[in-house]
Amino acid sequence: MCERKNHERNNHKRKNFIKKNESFKCGNCGENILELKNGSCRNHCPFCFYSKHVDNVPGDRESVCKSLMKPVEYEYNSKKGYMIVHECLSCGKIQKNKTSFDDPIQPDDYDNFLEFVETVNRNK
Ligand SMILES: [Zn+2]
Ligand SMILES: [Zn+2]
Repeated sequence: MCERKNHERNNHKRKNFIKKNESFKCGNCGENILELKNGSCRNHCPFCFYSKHVDNVPGDRESVCKSLMKPVEYEYNSKKGYMIVHECLSCGKIQKNKTSFDDPIQPDDYDNFLEFVETVNRNK
């Protein structure tokens, strides 16, 4: 949702959209998560893939929930690549995040992602 072209296309219905891309500490594994340098918004941990419920609309950081969001499922999108589906541990909100294996500074850990995919498939 953070690519410029999506932003512009959706701008008319997302009046409160503010692009934020800050570093933060993972609430699950404690790793320091850096902002992405490839133009996307990072909203999950590149090591354990947990996210935090900070958005009502992706990117707005307006949510009051602030709970951990667990990676529960993955999807393949022909345009965006692999997506991680997160479920909020507190309110149950479902949110999808794009993976970023191509970030030059701190890419998503591909081995960990494969493990996650295996775990999801095993539990199906
Ligand atoms: Zn983590
Ligand atoms: Zn929540």
